[in-house]
Amino acid sequence: MMTEAGVKGRPQIGVVIPVFNEADNIEGLVRRLVPVLERVADSFEVVFIDDGSRDGTMEALRRANAADPRLTAVSFSRNFGKEIAIAAGLDHCEADAVVIMDADLQHPPEVIETFVAKWREGYLNVYGQRTHRETESAVRRMFARRFYRMFALFGETPLPEGAGDFRLLDRQAVLALRAMGERARFSKGLYAWIGFKSVGVPFEVAERASGVSKFDIGKLTRFALDGLMSFSTLPLQVWTYVGVAVSIFALAMALSFVLQTLVYGVDVPGYASLIVSVMFLGGVQLLSLGVLGEYIGRIFAEVKRRPLYLVAERLGQGAKADEAPLPMRHDRRV
Ligand code: UDP
Ligand code: MG
Repeated sequence: MMTEAGVKGRPQIGVVIPVFNEADNIEGLVRRLVPVLERVADSFEVVFIDDGSRDGTMEALRRANAADPRLTAVSFSRNFGKEIAIAAGLDHCEADAVVIMDADLQHPPEVIETFVAKWREGYLNVYGQRTHRETESAVRRMFARRFYRMFALFGETPLPEGAGDFRLLDRQAVLALRAMGERARFSKGLYAWIGFKSVGVPFEVAERASGVSKFDIGKLTRFALDGLMSFSTLPLQVWTYVGVAVSIFALAMALSFVLQTLVYGVDVPGYASLIVSVMFLGGVQLLSLGVLGEYIGRIFAEVKRRPLYLVAERLGQGAKADEAPLPMRHDRRV
């Protein structure tokens, strides 16, 4: 637990920003973000999580930190992905309320004023709700629509409409998220799962300030599978019902064959139906094995208990620099 001195030294507002090859965006972001934070809070800290960038992102962050020590950074040893970068940001941010946002100015910093106002009204989980998805490609929009429809059907946690990572979390919610040890992290689901008094704030997603989206179809597919599988066991259980239905159908067929043979005698043709049913059942079995494999792979990743991420360097995170160099999620203080 925090000491009284720690509580007093805690910044009011913290901002967590995952960055992956965003060198060109950092200066512009800081220029727009800092005035907003100065307006809404007496004290603040910004924690950039450099997710193994290979461009000049770290140099840009070093410049930012030298100019303003409230801008800090944690740099990963390699690219671990945005979801894990967010988890690391929450680990390294001790503010009373933490805002999570993208670095590309698609999340307008000015909306933070409304977030903070809602937080002061007593909401612990204030989420930005995008009013449209026009900044995304048609393919990605279709993909997203399908995914959310499936999640609504299978998922065990309902997700609020249009909610993403752009949000404000009270420290209580941050501590709850820190306590979640899972490696396959679907943040959107976790934010909804923790509950707390929540409210949505509509905002317009802007165009990316510079550069291109860091998510390709491969990354998005992994992300969607992680999301569905961390929040639903239905894909595992559905095979019981498929099995029962196929067995009943096979029994009915067997009965009808027996009757047919008794009435009309032996009927040799049937090659087509035989091949079709063998192929169909083979397909169903491979599919169900594949689903099992997806879950077992995730269980394997969880039981290995590897650290969620490795930190290569910390900027302006002085107080935490003497912590264990390998953060282990399961024994971390909460
Ligand atoms: N990002 C990251 N690691 C990754 C991919 C992305 O930290 O592996 C960051 C990225 O730098 C940005 C945010 O996550 O700040 C959102 O990424 P992006 O804008 O590419 O995604 P989109 O807006 O297309 O969803
Ligand atoms: Mg973006």
